[in-house]
Amino acid sequence: MSTIETDYLIIGGGAVGMAFADTILAETDAHVTIVDRQARPGGHWNDAYGFVALHQPSAFYGVNSLPLGENRKDTHGVNEGLYELASGPEVSGYYDKVMRQKLLPTGRVTYLPMTEWRDGAAVSLMSGEATRITVRRKTVESAYNSPVIPANHTPRFDVAEGVRLVPPGALPRLWLEPERPARFVVLGGGKTAMDAVGWLLAMGTPAEAIQWVRPRDSWLINRTCTQPGTEFFDAVFGGQLAQMKAFAQGTSPEDIFARLEEAGMMLRIDPAVTPTMFHYATISQGEIDALARVTNVVRKGRVTALTPEAIVLEEGSEPAVPGALYIDCTASAVEVRAPQPIFQGDRIVPQLVRVPQPCFSAALIAFVEAHYEGDDAKNALCRTVPFPHSLKDYLTTNIVNLMNQGAWLGDEKLGAWIRQSRLDGFGKVAASIDRSDAAKVAVLQEMRSTAPLAVANLMRLAAA
Ligand SMILES: Cc1cc2nc3c(=O)[nH]c(=O)nc-3n(C[C@H](O)[C@H](O)[C@H](O)COP(=O)(O)OP(=O)(O)OC[C@H]3O[C@@H](n4cnc5c(N)ncnc54)[C@H](O)[C@@H]3O)c2cc1C
Repeated sequence: MSTIETDYLIIGGGAVGMAFADTILAETDAHVTIVDRQARPGGHWNDAYGFVALHQPSAFYGVNSLPLGENRKDTHGVNEGLYELASGPEVSGYYDKVMRQKLLPTGRVTYLPMTEWRDGAAVSLMSGEATRITVRRKTVESAYNSPVIPANHTPRFDVAEGVRLVPPGALPRLWLEPERPARFVVLGGGKTAMDAVGWLLAMGTPAEAIQWVRPRDSWLINRTCTQPGTEFFDAVFGGQLAQMKAFAQGTSPEDIFARLEEAGMMLRIDPAVTPTMFHYATISQGEIDALARVTNVVRKGRVTALTPEAIVLEEGSEPAVPGALYIDCTASAVEVRAPQPIFQGDRIVPQLVRVPQPCFSAALIAFVEAHYEGDDAKNALCRTVPFPHSLKDYLTTNIVNLMNQGAWLGDEKLGAWIRQSRLDGFGKVAASIDRSDAAKVAVLQEMRSTAPLAVANLMRLAAA
């Protein structure tokens, strides 16, 4: 068995592994080895459905050293007037470029694609040959929170013979078929289902030909409140202040979401239905308007079986339409994985330190690894922010999020790094405002002074 020596062994070359590698290379003289069972860097983006796109602006996604996109605003479509969202192929191409133009040219990177980390060795999927890797500093388990996507997911319901169930990635290939299905039944209530319905509508499918099985409705972040340009200061920081006040004054998770909707930060597809789920999906009002055109929505819990006669659900059934095409959007991108400490001796397990930003989080973790001593000090700056799976979880998510933010504000070195990081979208907007603009300065000050009240109230509600 051959042996390689490296300082950091990074298992996984997805967005998290790449953001970590980029910053650790910039901040230290370390050598890095990236092992990935896929043929290209970028992880799940390489296998996503063809019409996938970021749901946040490209401006603060990716790695710190290379911008993604051109920071332009869309002039057409449902994202009109807002900053560009990279398409899936664009994100894949970006990571390829990061590897070829940023990481490999340092001369301090060994990249092993089509190689699986298995039983303590890197095993080539092509030759079967194993390589032992001697790690001088740490192993970075970057794929701990890797998402489950339609392409690598198995439905958790029965599909009878004669029923046609496809992943969303099959939709753009329908032009190859002599006839289009009589009805499209989209299964799932998350962002993938929204993308599939949005794509069907954008391609001219009549809204009446779409049936949407939506077990739960979701609160959705209004994308206008996530824009990187100073012209969006009022939406972004007005929204952030409203959020801080909702945290400080809200009486329950449901009340907090109602306040956020009132402030324009949260959206929902159906105003008659109160959402019970929140996974930080981000959407524009244009998308909401389009999705709301589909009114044949089935809310009878999750699908348990598809037969030629019926859609069988947890709380009843619906008659099936002959010739229907079922689109499986039931993969849960965000599985419930227990949060764990990020720095664990000779292991680093990157997770969110700011929600919902995996790239920023991984880069910040690398910076902390490079410049601070001891796991306790590092973990104190990088508390793991648990991803919410219910509205109540959102309280704890934000308590930890705010605690991390507070710890960073109090640390000069880290604060300076955050201010220069392209992945810190909103910070740039705040830093660029004219300090003589009293109204804007007041918003930022009020946010800061409300933060302790927000944490205290969230803690009280979480304990209740
Ligand atoms: C449709 C969709 C849209 C999204 N949009 C956004 C967005 O707009 N903004 C945002 O911030 N986040 C978004 N996300 C969240 C997204 O999950 C993260 O941005 C990020 O891409 C996740 O990267 P990752 O490195 O954790 O996982 P992955 O992309 O899954 O990468 C993990 C890599 O590790 C490799 N790997 C795992 N185990 C091993 C092993 N044992 N040996 C070798 N290799 C291994 C895998 O092959 C894979 O390449 C989106 C997610 C989805 C599904």
